[in-house]
Amino acid sequence: MKLHEYRSKQLFARYGIPIPRGRVAMTAQEAKAIAQELGGRVVVKAQVLVGGRGKAGGIRLVHTPEETEDVATQVLGMQIKGLPVRRVLVDEAADIRSEIYLGVTNDRGVRSPVMIASAEGGVEIEEVARTQPHKIVRVYIDPLLGMREHQARFLATSIELPRKHWRDFIAIAQGLYSTFTKTDASLAEINPLVITGDYRLLALDGKIVLDDNALFRHPELAEMRDLDEEEPAEREARRYGLSYVKLNGTIGCMVNGAGLAMATMDVIKLFGGEPANFLDIGGGAGAEKVSIAFNLILKDKNVRVVLINIFGGITRCDEVARGILSALEEVDVDLPMVVRLVGTNEEEGRRLLQEADMITAISLADAAQKAVELVKEDQAV
Ligand code: GDP
Ligand code: MN
Repeated sequence: MKLHEYRSKQLFARYGIPIPRGRVAMTAQEAKAIAQELGGRVVVKAQVLVGGRGKAGGIRLVHTPEETEDVATQVLGMQIKGLPVRRVLVDEAADIRSEIYLGVTNDRGVRSPVMIASAEGGVEIEEVARTQPHKIVRVYIDPLLGMREHQARFLATSIELPRKHWRDFIAIAQGLYSTFTKTDASLAEINPLVITGDYRLLALDGKIVLDDNALFRHPELAEMRDLDEEEPAEREARRYGLSYVKLNGTIGCMVNGAGLAMATMDVIKLFGGEPANFLDIGGGAGAEKVSIAFNLILKDKNVRVVLINIFGGITRCDEVARGILSALEEVDVDLPMVVRLVGTNEEEGRRLLQEADMITAISLADAAQKAVELVKEDQAV
């Protein structure tokens, strides 16, 4: 779950990271009032959960409260990458000398949290990684020891931060690491962290991604979820306790078990196809769950073929097959379907599905190849 910039910065402030004065507004009048409070120049910033707001015209520097009202009216009417802007953050404008990048995430390969810094702040870090990889420095953090002072100092020297900023920088790096661990985040990022005209460090932009699986420990953060900005199908899936992630391919996947779902996506790719989604329907693939899953998959108009991959362990395969067939009485699916069923009573399960004219497969490789073939035929038409 992603947090808006203003929420992220509020959390940063709790851990001692300096942020600009400012507040969030839902109307242009509120924005004007905030600008009046702050006095002088302000920035009006669209609060949407996508990057590159600046380029899209969602970050505007203004000089007076009246201008703030006009600009806020414009920005509140905008859509950025398809997302409507419902709130703007009005912050005191900063006088920027230079922009730094500072972020913490988990490096799964190394199995460790990593703090990343770069003197090339203000642009997306992925872009820096692509074009100037030598400008990025990393330190791995031992979770038992936490972020050590010498590690922060190493980052500061590596990005050639002037010595007079080191003390503040160390406090910010440690504050950022605390934010990351205390909120169970998978990413906490300040971009840019700026050096101001009067030589202070200030977090101008913030991004926090929380680990959904840890949200139960943070009811206060869970409430910050912005339902307007989520994929509707993912929201729907969460309501029924299914794990669904929309992707961009053409082969809709319905699988029981997260590991099997991952393997299914890998094998689809191996044979040259692209999965349309990750979907784990969990244990006991009864008719009700299967029809909810069909509905989720079919909402995605890119789907050309549905691949069902079920391992019948505790649930018997003939029951799963009956579940699929009765779900199909309720949901209209006019796309081809490939079903791979293995486990207890699999022959019986397959026989039931074949009688209903469904394409069955025994191995996952066979199922994936058949699905990829069907997509190709569909594209050839
Ligand atoms: P993003 O484009 O969505 O990442 O939004 P940011 O908040 O990072 O802002 C993008 C850029 O706008 C920053 O890198 C700055 O160059 C500029 N910017 C943002 N806030 C201010 C400000 O208060 N004053 C000035 N002069 N520039 C700002
Ligand atoms: Mn930014």
